Amino acid sequence: MKIGLLCDKRGFKGSRSRGKCSEISAGIVMDRYRKQRLRMVDSQIRSRGITDPHVLKAMETVPRHLFIDKGLMDQAYNDNPLPIGEGQTISQPYIVALMTEALELRGKEKVLEIGTGSGYQTAILAELAERVFSVERIASIASKARKLLDSLNYFNVAIRVGDGTYGWREESPFEAIIVTAGAPDIPRILVEQLASGGRLVLPVGDRNLQTLIKLTRLSEDANNLKKEDLGGCRFVSLVGEYGWKD
Ligand code: SAH
Repeated sequence: MKIGLLCDKRGFKGSRSRGKCSEISAGIVMDRYRKQRLRMVDSQIRSRGITDPHVLKAMETVPRHLFIDKGLMDQAYNDNPLPIGEGQTISQPYIVALMTEALELRGKEKVLEIGTGSGYQTAILAELAERVFSVERIASIASKARKLLDSLNYFNVAIRVGDGTYGWREESPFEAIIVTAGAPDIPRILVEQLASGGRLVLPVGDRNLQTLIKLTRLSEDANNLKKEDLGGCRFVSLVGEYGWKD
């Protein structure tokens, strides 16, 4: 498959600044949505047991409504996934928070994300980690996310178009890997790209229903893994060599 590298305006390499959303530079007054966002974090996320203060802060900061088509913007902070075009969806806010907390980010990590989609989860990761590498198989979706993330000053994000089930070998190892599409099995190649001590969070199951799995690589040995079950979920399919075939 042809791989295209989409760089941010300042050039990803050499840029060391962590992404910070500047509401003013986006040129949009967000007070109206800020209230909805704070309410979302209280009623959907804190109340369901997410406690990592950095994750809560990131969810209070990233303007989720900008990642959603204008026609659905007023539903941006609702307790459900929403369509983003091409048959894909932006995940429910709680699922984003749950998966992000499971990655245990402290600010210095290199993170791999498979399934950029709207770029919302990418922005949350960019708030919490040093650098984010995100792979999206649909070019039009990737370029829309790239533009939006640029406009919000997330300069610590690199996006590429391709089959993310291969991972991003040149940039490995990663302290954290997140897959935001449902896989039939755990792609071995992603486990191999995890750093020792690294966390991989992904939905695994059939086309309709999956279980969120957290794998921790306990040592250099890629077979020395701890596996945890984070509960049921429903994602669009991970399509690729080590995912579903269509
Ligand atoms: N995290 C996203 C959710 C996107 S939905 C968000 O917050 O909006 C899942 C995305 O995974 C879709 O955009 C889909 O095109 C993408 N995808 C599916 N299989 C993929 C693969 N093998 N490699 C990269 N992206 C893939």
